[in-house]
Amino acid sequence: HTQAFQLVKDALIDGEVGVIQSLNEVAAIGHRVVQGGSIFSKSVLITGEVLKGIESLIPLAPLHNPAHVQGIRACQDVFGTEVPQVAVFDTAFHQTMPEKAYLYGLPYDYYKKYKIRRYGFHGTSHDFVSKRAAEILGKDRKDLKIIVCHLGNGASVSAVKYGESVDTSMGLTPLEGLIMGTRSGDLDPAIISFLAEKEGMTASQVIDVCNKKSGVLGLSDGYSSDFRDLVQASETGNEQAKHALEAYAYRVGKYIGAYAAAMNGVDVIAFTAGVGENNAEVRAMIGEYIGYLGTNIDAERNKVRGEEIILSDEGSKVVTMVVPTNEELAIARETVRLVK
Ligand code: AMP
Repeated sequence: HTQAFQLVKDALIDGEVGVIQSLNEVAAIGHRVVQGGSIFSKSVLITGEVLKGIESLIPLAPLHNPAHVQGIRACQDVFGTEVPQVAVFDTAFHQTMPEKAYLYGLPYDYYKKYKIRRYGFHGTSHDFVSKRAAEILGKDRKDLKIIVCHLGNGASVSAVKYGESVDTSMGLTPLEGLIMGTRSGDLDPAIISFLAEKEGMTASQVIDVCNKKSGVLGLSDGYSSDFRDLVQASETGNEQAKHALEAYAYRVGKYIGAYAAAMNGVDVIAFTAGVGENNAEVRAMIGEYIGYLGTNIDAERNKVRGEEIILSDEGSKVVTMVVPTNEELAIARETVRLVK
């Protein structure tokens, strides 16, 4: 990571491709940190204490938090400790979830001992998109019930009620919830021991399969995790790819229904991330399940890719829209706010 940041530093001030003259212009550095646990409910200036906090959460995010710590240390080495750094947590926005939404139906003791609960991820995106959706509509987010569908390679849905996340589909780890590119999403937990026994794997090997070989990749019998490939294959008669897309859209539709119930209503449904922004075919398939809410998605408008657009007809009961996410901008804004 230190070598990588050295290269970033060189590129930033490079005569040809650089964007700044000198490193003195770097006023602060913002980091996306995946797991903030129950310790961090908002972005923070990074101190020794904060680094210890991020390290203490490694058991909850073994793939991500060690790399974040390395990245932060590498930035200190490369840019100097006098440049302030800020951590923006993927979990922070969801810290407003009520206990009934974040507790699993497990012995409470495990929650007390190990902090096993739902944390949710993609928080920076759910926050940014719900805010921007309200802005586009000329309304205050505090007056709206918004469902954000962040559909990328990793995917999650959130219920944002009057400005606060009250539920989201990812859990203790980003494996829960929707069927994703390569992740299974919700499963009967009994499948883990069943498969471990049948295939002679350990539990963690089965979880690895659930993370890396499942989702639409697994459902399409290994064809692809990329939704562009799957749409194309499905249109040219690949039944397995078609079924993978159907299962994907069905799950998103069910979560939207669940979150309309969680908020006792919904005013806005916003699609974002790679698939949500660009894949008109998948959006149309999801649209099949949510019409009863009064979404009235216009087929012509739904053809748009990668732009802010309202998909619903004028006067629809629920406004459905595309709002491109911008996590980097959100992290930069948080960084500026904290440094100032
Ligand atoms: P993300 O993780 O947000 O980068 O999303 C990646 C997913 O977005 C991949 O499955 C891509 O197939 C999908 N995607 C990206 N661009 C397009 C596009 N122009 N049309 C359809 N799908 C797209």
